[in-house]
Amino acid sequence: MAVATPETTEPRVVLVTGGNRGIGKCIADSFRAQGDRVIITYRSGDAPEGVDAVQCDVSSTKSVEAAYKEIESTWGPVEILVANAGITKDTLLMRMSEDDFTSVLDTNLVGAFRVAKRATKGFLKLKRGRVIFISSVVGVTGAPGQANYAASKAGLTGMARAITRELGARNVTANVVAPGYITTDMTAELPEDVTANYMTSIPAARFGDPEEVANAVQWLASPGAGYVNGTVIRVDGGLGMGL
Ligand code: NDP
Repeated sequence: MAVATPETTEPRVVLVTGGNRGIGKCIADSFRAQGDRVIITYRSGDAPEGVDAVQCDVSSTKSVEAAYKEIESTWGPVEILVANAGITKDTLLMRMSEDDFTSVLDTNLVGAFRVAKRATKGFLKLKRGRVIFISSVVGVTGAPGQANYAASKAGLTGMARAITRELGARNVTANVVAPGYITTDMTAELPEDVTANYMTSIPAARFGDPEEVANAVQWLASPGAGYVNGTVIRVDGGLGMGL
């Protein structure tokens, strides 16, 4: 018999990295709207007003540890982790410095590893947990100028599947959401000709909204998705289909 009931009536503790703006903020708002206890991390500037937030740079193990300590002592163990923080440093391969490559990997992939690794302590205590990595369609399709970014995003799929094999029997799921082109600060930086070019290859003929990504994350975190493990959900208007 399928199990689709919440395992507790307590609000779930949800951590969204990079939840101060863009897709992360939208994901955090959607969890908050349904009554979860949501904590976001912010890296630069001040904490956004009116939300529970901790300062955290995912490229620092020390910072991740300090953020988890603060979260756990104030709100308890994290049940749902959305590893969303990410950066780009686009340039063609022949011009890409080793630092351009490793710094993107260190935030997007190793950063996700740092927060997921630290989350497992709480998952084992709670006897349940959900990890949702925010990847990109580019991790599947590749894109010129994004060898660093594509490698980092492809790596998240392998990591989710390794976590699934390690912790699946402990009531932990690990999945990936791979957005296509979504209207945020990140895509606002794209040159006009690049945007126009992308538009011609998106079957939906439009960029997506952050809410459309949040919907997929919501579902993966829901009781009904308890048997969905190690999968990739693309939210890309069909851009990466068939790959
Ligand atoms: P934004 O550039 O708007 O926001 C990125 C977020 O990540 C910010 O909150 C930023 O914090 C945070 N961040 C960056 N580096 C670090 C770090 N070292 N430690 C902690 N936080 C950090 O990006 P989007 O909202 O567009 O993207 C969110 C995620 O979705 C990213 O992983 C991105 O790769 C992915 N994505 C986005 C797509 C799009 O079309 N927009 C498409 C596919 C995937 P701060 O405010 O301090 O800079």
